[in-house]
Amino acid sequence: MRAEASAGVSEFRKQHGRPPGLATVLVGEDPASRVYVGSKRKLSEEVGIRSIHHGLDAAATPEELLELIDELGADDAVDGILVQLPLPDHHDQDAVIARIAPEKDVDGLTATSAGLLAQGRPGLVPCTPRGVMRLIEVAGVEAQGAEAVVVGRSILVGRPLASLLLNASATVTVCHSRTRDLAEVTSRADVLIAAVGSPRMIGAGMVKPGATVIDVGINRTEDGLVGDVDFEAVGEVAGAITPVPGGVGPMTIAMLLSNTLRAASLRAG
Ligand code: NAP
Repeated sequence: MRAEASAGVSEFRKQHGRPPGLATVLVGEDPASRVYVGSKRKLSEEVGIRSIHHGLDAAATPEELLELIDELGADDAVDGILVQLPLPDHHDQDAVIARIAPEKDVDGLTATSAGLLAQGRPGLVPCTPRGVMRLIEVAGVEAQGAEAVVVGRSILVGRPLASLLLNASATVTVCHSRTRDLAEVTSRADVLIAAVGSPRMIGAGMVKPGATVIDVGINRTEDGLVGDVDFEAVGEVAGAITPVPGGVGPMTIAMLLSNTLRAASLRAG
């Protein structure tokens, strides 16, 4: 996918005489967020996307942040705007997302992007769910008609993923913290996606033999990074399974490159 993005960027440069530009905004010093933004910038540059970074002090005011987002929205060299979440508590995350110009919403989080996706119309789709769909596709798993179960209903992962699966004609069930008898529901899944943030919560007894299991979770534990799925045990029953780290994470960044190129091409007309 990175090679694909690289070829697309070269072509864009040839046609428009400039590289696609991705602006990243990091507020504060959260160590995990710094690592994520660092990888996104590095991989963008590797494929020829211009990375424009703004680091704001943790004490930056909501007005300062909103002003910066407006400036990036008006800047012609910027095709994509990525505000790394979560933000420090004194910022209103919904208001910040709403301020991002929809045509530069490479994280696919604005109400415009979410609405287009929910209606099955073309738009910018959140990177992690797009990455999950691509994994399902390249693994040769037929989504059409499949029982798909998504555990988690965040606007970043669970909800857009449910829409994508529905748009791909799967029969979709979304589970969350109030779901009664989670194991009974997950055991029905031909395609099971865990996006919870709870270390190894999906055990072998919750998975139908032969199912495709995609693990979105990233949990820092004493044993290092682990997913939401008990990889060893579930690996014994699943037909296919993604590891953590090294599964959905790299796909997310690859999709960000692809979304940036897409936003740039749409803007350039
Ligand atoms: P989130 O906003 O915290 O949402 C978690 C979801 O899990 C909620 O919908 C919650 O239900 C549900 N949940 C919590 N406990 C549950 C339980 N016991 N049984 C069933 N559902 C339960 O998290 P997120 O942003 O979607 O992220 C989920 C995980 O994916 C995290 O580990 C995050 O680090 C990881 N992630 C990875 C990538 C990547 O690139 N690989 C990208 C984004 C996120 P309620 O709605 O009822 O509270």
